[in-house]
Amino acid sequence: MMEKDCIFCKIAAGEIPARTIYEDNEFRVILDASPASKGHALILPKEHYANIYEIDEEIIAKAAKLAKRLAAHMTETLGCDGFNIVQNNGEVAGQTVFHFHMHLIPRYKEMKNDDILHWTHEAFTDEEQDEICAKLQMK
Ligand code: 5GP
Ligand code: ZN
Repeated sequence: MMEKDCIFCKIAAGEIPARTIYEDNEFRVILDASPASKGHALILPKEHYANIYEIDEEIIAKAAKLAKRLAAHMTETLGCDGFNIVQNNGEVAGQTVFHFHMHLIPRYKEMKNDDILHWTHEAFTDEEQDEICAKLQMK
């Protein structure tokens, strides 16, 4: 289903133009309009899901397989030296377009932009980490 007023629904459906590097029945992969690096692309499912909480498990599994294929293809084509796959959920996590998407970000040794994915480290005590670990146990 398409969501009214969702820019990525419209792009995925071909109603708004975008530079497409891959398309099939379920996905469109486009170049990001404000790229973090040369070749920065976005995998868009054609179906609207706001985020990882909403997306169908089968679709995200297919998106991951597609990401693997594209990473290999883009690395060969662009000659990049590494690759980040990023996927933001919620405003606090940096999501600005609320239609699930995966960022494919080629990285280059000579690249000046070191700020991509640069986070500081929080300090937790061993006890706190034990507690967090215990709380997060998943069956
Ligand atoms: P988010 O911050 O939600 O994880 O990522 C949204 C991304 O979509 C941003 O990197 C932004 O540059 C890109 N973007 C937003 N609007 C458009 C658009 O209309 N066309 C394209 N190609 N990219 C867009
Ligand atoms: Zn949408």
